[in-house]
Amino acid sequence: MTRAAETSGSLLCFDVDRVREDFPVLHQKIRDRDLVYLDNAATTQKPQTVIDAISRYYGQQNANIHRGVHYLSQEATFAYERARARIRLFLNAAANAEIIFVRGTTEGINLVAHSYGGSNLKENDEIVISHTEHHSNIIPWQLLCARTGAILRVVPVDDDGQFLLEEYAALLNDRTRIVAVAHASNALGTINPVREIARLAHDRGAVVVVDGAQGVPHLPVDVRDLDCDFYAFSGHKVFGPTGVGILYGRKSLIDAMPPYEGGGSMIKTVSFEETTYADLPAKFEAGTPHIAGGIALESAIDYVTALGPERIAAYETTLLEYAIDLLSEIDGLRLIGAAPKRDRIGDRVGVISFVMEAAHPHDIGTILDTEGVAVRAGHHCAQPAMARFGVPATVRASLAFYNTHEEIDALAAGLRKVNEVFGG
Ligand code: PMP
Repeated sequence: MTRAAETSGSLLCFDVDRVREDFPVLHQKIRDRDLVYLDNAATTQKPQTVIDAISRYYGQQNANIHRGVHYLSQEATFAYERARARIRLFLNAAANAEIIFVRGTTEGINLVAHSYGGSNLKENDEIVISHTEHHSNIIPWQLLCARTGAILRVVPVDDDGQFLLEEYAALLNDRTRIVAVAHASNALGTINPVREIARLAHDRGAVVVVDGAQGVPHLPVDVRDLDCDFYAFSGHKVFGPTGVGILYGRKSLIDAMPPYEGGGSMIKTVSFEETTYADLPAKFEAGTPHIAGGIALESAIDYVTALGPERIAAYETTLLEYAIDLLSEIDGLRLIGAAPKRDRIGDRVGVISFVMEAAHPHDIGTILDTEGVAVRAGHHCAQPAMARFGVPATVRASLAFYNTHEEIDALAAGLRKVNEVFGG
């Protein structure tokens, strides 16, 4: 079957109008216009099932987990642990013990940098990242370098924002200990070749950390197929709550790693002389977690699974293709990274970064806002990526499966208005 046939086949039952009914926030006027929400890379909207799960927890189930003998505590513990098991299946991890609840991608990566990095790296060891990483996948490694004397190496990207595998292979050496890359870039949408990156890293004995913040919302993710050692993502970017996320860690590695934070829940025994730590994953989950968040994250994952990650990716690709065609026709608009080549569209998620001759990205964002169109303008927490493309900032329209072709039309109309207002 051709890719196009596969796509249209998998789209046969994708009813975007029906999907939109599940997202109450989408049905409102902003400045007297229908809201067009195209800031999904920053955070996604929540389906009613996720909102209900939070409300149900606080309304009927609220109790602290893992320690109460009473009914409510046991119910809440059951729901929280069921969420963990559900997320394990979603990622195809080998065991529930490999699923660690964290606050989000940022905390997941910091946990690996502190715990794995702090106990395995020494002076002159090397950490490899790419040029287009989010600050969350740069600064934890810089801090680790400052603590250990390790050295940060950066893989360049080409003018389309594509990860340069040959340059990467040439950077790897026997001192490389950690390779940390985004599954997909939040600034450009480029999907990195994680499987190949992992294979080459493992050949050198390095571990692979994947920043999955923009992977999970748009792509099917199978951590065993990717063969990564760590994979972090944020609940709020995958239609779940803020303040909760997941770090997947390969059991053989996380078993040997020291705790990241100390406190309640992460111990077996405590005395002033000696403390012993709980088994996985509790060893990495000190203190009371975001219980409602974990439970509602299960609802979000159920929602995405019911739609089907492959169908989501296929539908978003049609939107992306449409958007690129439309935006390419606008005077003075320059797409940044991931050039609009047909054969490259399957290589990126629904993120479109651009600049316009007529106006600064912030002014463009403001004009679009008056039209009810929500986009992001700025450096997207990826200043080195902006520097690579010689711009201080871009406008970023980022898609989700509830966006429509009509909304892309509204974006394009807003951008034509920018040209009218600023005389471009
Ligand atoms: N990495 C990427 C690629 C992201 O897009 C983001 C969020 N913009 C993060 C990391 C950080 O995610 P969070 O703020 O949810 O921890």
